[in-house]
Amino acid sequence: MKNILVIYTGGTIGMVKDAQTGALKPFDMKKIYEVLPVLRKIDCNIETYQCDPIIDSSDMNATKWIEIASFIGEQYDSYDGFVILHGTDTMSYTASALSFLLDNLSKPVIITGSQLPLGMIRTDGRDNIISAVEIAANTEVSIPEVCIFFDNKLYRGNRTTKINAEYFEAFYSGNLPSLAKVGINISYKKHIIAPNPTKEFSVYKNLCTDIAIMKIHPAISEDYIKAVGNIPNLKGLIMETYGSGNAPTQDWFLESIKDIIAKGIIVMNVTQCKAGSVAMGHYQASCDLRDMGVISGRDITTEAALAKMMFVLGNFSDKQTQKKLLNSNLRGEIS
Ligand code: ASP
Repeated sequence: MKNILVIYTGGTIGMVKDAQTGALKPFDMKKIYEVLPVLRKIDCNIETYQCDPIIDSSDMNATKWIEIASFIGEQYDSYDGFVILHGTDTMSYTASALSFLLDNLSKPVIITGSQLPLGMIRTDGRDNIISAVEIAANTEVSIPEVCIFFDNKLYRGNRTTKINAEYFEAFYSGNLPSLAKVGINISYKKHIIAPNPTKEFSVYKNLCTDIAIMKIHPAISEDYIKAVGNIPNLKGLIMETYGSGNAPTQDWFLESIKDIIAKGIIVMNVTQCKAGSVAMGHYQASCDLRDMGVISGRDITTEAALAKMMFVLGNFSDKQTQKKLLNSNLRGEIS
């Protein structure tokens, strides 16, 4: 029988209504079995761990990612799979960060949450957590990946984006199909799931937070870009551009980006589109960016680009190595 560790970080999934105020507040992990006794019936041994404090995922940050990754590292040999209960708001960021921090992962790490608290009648949390545990404990298919399970689909976590704050279909993976779908059966797309690693598992313990994200829009000003470039200690800039990586071609814009690069700040170009890829050089509007040394994020999500930069700049100091890694597919985050 498989041993699964369920780690509760917080989020809507574990929320109950405060009797006095009516506001949603986090509950005690031990009560998960009161709310969801069916969990005991899944064919695996489940142990639980509650993070302290449990948080709304809006409070998730680099320190907490390293804590979660380190905790998984400490518990790694004792369990066959991990399920992380997490708020949906930053779930894609956390999935991306963990995918980089957990190197040569050979066990499933499935992150799930819900749009409605577990305690509510129509909750999506019930199905999400049951299926996430079943998938983590499955004996047929090896899933050596950090995944998000939501609304009957298993996704590679670093390919996802939260796209809906209302409906149960909250996550979207525009550039990679789901790894599995839950219906009467759970059908796995084995050809998409990452192969088992050949090297030993290890946990990286550093992340650089000197990174900014700048969305290009028609009203962007020179002052704004200069202010971003002048952020003290800035080491990396993710530039969300139009379509296949296009940005304004006016001199003031290009000169401002050139100045940022001249300061040694690494600039990565990602698309604002929810599917498709940056292809610098496809239009004139991206040729200059390519020529001045902007790195193509290709079909990476903004969430994964942030996590990748935090990981690469946090763990490798040589500029050439940083650029090489940022240009490479490290965890299936680009096609
Ligand atoms: N604000 C909540 C969180 O991300 C929303 C959710 O869990 O869906 O923690």
